[in-house]
Amino acid sequence: MTFPSSSIAFARSTCEYPDITRNWFYDSGWKMRYRTGYDRNGFGVHPNVTSFTMHEEAHSQAGKVIRDLHSLGKYHGYAGISRPYQWTGLAGAKVCKPGYHRYGAAIDFTRFDWGSDCFVDTAVHGRARRYLRRRYLAVIATCRKHFGIVLHRHNDPDGSHWNHIHVDRGRKAVAMSWGYTTDTTIIQWAARDLAGVTDLAIDGDFGPKTTAAFKTLRSRFGAEDFDPTASNTNTMLWLNLIGWHGMADQDAGTYQVKDIERHEAAASD
Ligand SMILES: [Zn+2]
Repeated sequence: MTFPSSSIAFARSTCEYPDITRNWFYDSGWKMRYRTGYDRNGFGVHPNVTSFTMHEEAHSQAGKVIRDLHSLGKYHGYAGISRPYQWTGLAGAKVCKPGYHRYGAAIDFTRFDWGSDCFVDTAVHGRARRYLRRRYLAVIATCRKHFGIVLHRHNDPDGSHWNHIHVDRGRKAVAMSWGYTTDTTIIQWAARDLAGVTDLAIDGDFGPKTTAAFKTLRSRFGAEDFDPTASNTNTMLWLNLIGWHGMADQDAGTYQVKDIERHEAAASD
């Protein structure tokens, strides 16, 4: 399924394409909940299991995000504790407004939950302590595995994404390209919070400082021969590496490409 170009998507606000309505992603046990407001500390409040309407493809791709986040929690949980996935918070999906929401091809996420001691609140954790920013980054990287566009507090063209993560299929989950702020901000954020390049701006501009930071990251990841822009396979390796480090709160280099490959070989046996 290829959705129309963004100039067409943003030209109208009418809803189009068939949709489905579900209250779970991937497995019927992994429910969705609507964010109705915020508590006094700014955390989203999600009182009830809620059904959302979206395009079947977006539902399926988001299901893969949740499946992968379940694996991250299980095998790379913070503080070495294995945490199975619980539920997902949303602000919306199919909405008759300009952009990919009108096709049901976009989803706004508000929370990813592995239990009360391990979750990502998208209104708070992108600017919280480093281990929480790392976990938020792990979520961003995992979203990018299955959606080509991921908007968040550091990739925010209209100023609205400080409180939610928007994913859409206006771009498929193709190999990374530095012309896309979705891809550049992930590399910049990983360099900052995983590799300690703290003077680097997360601004989506792949300039000389980002080029140098990317080189550092590439060396730490043992990824000299794995340029993420060269193939979809390489992009997936990088996004998995960022996800593992982010979820486990580890410095870049704790895991390398060879660890991902070993893991994948074991999983396919
Ligand atoms: Zn959105």
